[in-house]
Amino acid sequence: MTAAVHLPVFRNEHLSVSRLRRYEQCPLAFYYQYVNKPDPALDAVRSEPAEFGTVLHDALERVYRWVLDEEVEGPFPEAQLLEYFRLAWIDSGLVGVGLYQEGRDLLRRYAQDTGRVDHMRTLAIEREFNLLVGPGDCRLVDASEKAGWALDDDHFVINGFIDRVDKPDSNTVEIIDYKSSRLLFSKEELADDLQMSVYALVAQCLYPWATEIRMSFHMLRHGLRQTTVRTAEDLRSAREYVRALGTRSERGPYNPKLNTYCGTCDHRARCDTYKLAVERKLEVVAVSASDLETLAQERERVAKIAKAAYSRKETLDGILKNALDSVFVSFALRNKPLASVGYSIGIAAGARAVAHLMDIAIESELVPRRNTVLIPKVESAFDEAGGPLDPMTDIAMTVMLDDLAWWAALLAQGRAKGELPPANFRIRAATAALHKAS
Ligand code: SF4
Repeated sequence: MTAAVHLPVFRNEHLSVSRLRRYEQCPLAFYYQYVNKPDPALDAVRSEPAEFGTVLHDALERVYRWVLDEEVEGPFPEAQLLEYFRLAWIDSGLVGVGLYQEGRDLLRRYAQDTGRVDHMRTLAIEREFNLLVGPGDCRLVDASEKAGWALDDDHFVINGFIDRVDKPDSNTVEIIDYKSSRLLFSKEELADDLQMSVYALVAQCLYPWATEIRMSFHMLRHGLRQTTVRTAEDLRSAREYVRALGTRSERGPYNPKLNTYCGTCDHRARCDTYKLAVERKLEVVAVSASDLETLAQERERVAKIAKAAYSRKETLDGILKNALDSVFVSFALRNKPLASVGYSIGIAAGARAVAHLMDIAIESELVPRRNTVLIPKVESAFDEAGGPLDPMTDIAMTVMLDDLAWWAALLAQGRAKGELPPANFRIRAATAALHKAS
């Protein structure tokens, strides 16, 4: 396991909601990110999901700014939103037609679900705040005051931005935060979310006239809002908690804590806890079925590991899907041979998946080969040196690879002589010519 990290005390001069959240999610990730960065180059590298989220945010920010500037009241400007998405995409480092299409689909659904806009109902967009929290003190300060509080032991200034503030009616304020994550918040996560508590404190200062303040995560991938509120008592606790968390983030400890975002954590490669979780080396605690407390603790630990692994799987699925989509639409697979290997833990050996792949291969104008390798009961199919135990696997593999090499050489020669345009293009061109003639 990764050992607890003890560090020299550092001063959290640039406290923000995302920093506090990071510490809450995983103190070790906070340590690597803000206290003792092992790889400063990481600052320049943003993960694809983070970059994608920023592009969606930018597009929404721009369209609502336009609504405010132009004092728009009417149908949601879907075309404008999609244009802003295109512009934000150009400025980003993203590639992949699949991801681009996904972004367009998410925003189109957003526009259709929202239906109408009214500039009078939007109070603020990308509203920056500096919230000072100290003993008996909670108020907004301006940027020039911020530095003065930075060295005070018991006061913290939290800097942040609110994506959008709406006024659904004359007494109500709704704080909107766009989220592009794949996982929804649980009821408990929503009720305890620190970001939402800080937003509620900020909204109280900004809009003292509001009798109702609610906070919503707009889950873009799901097309729904997850809304929460805070009571006066919740906010009292939140203020105390911010101070306690601010102090802890300066002193440690910085222990690893598995969480939903491990799958996209920049530090997972150096995190033993994550590696163990992904390799599923779970410490099985021998407890009696009647020791419900220990069982519940273990269940909690296993659930966190499962959530972290699921999140990573989702990220990898997305990356692979985009990579495959890019290959398909660029016709890079045409006139190339395909050989398949299927395997499974049971006896089916993935035969059905291989058969399905053949249809996809033909659709992509690949040249699929008849001979495949099917490996049932894969967990016990190989010896310690990695060789197949069943000699037929070896024979099937040799035949398949010989075929593949022969066809690869033949098709390479054919491609070098020149390829016909993709069949779909030729069919469309011929059909258009037919219609024109008739
Ligand atoms: S992978 Fe997870 S446990 Fe490890 S440092 Fe990152 S967030 Fe923490």
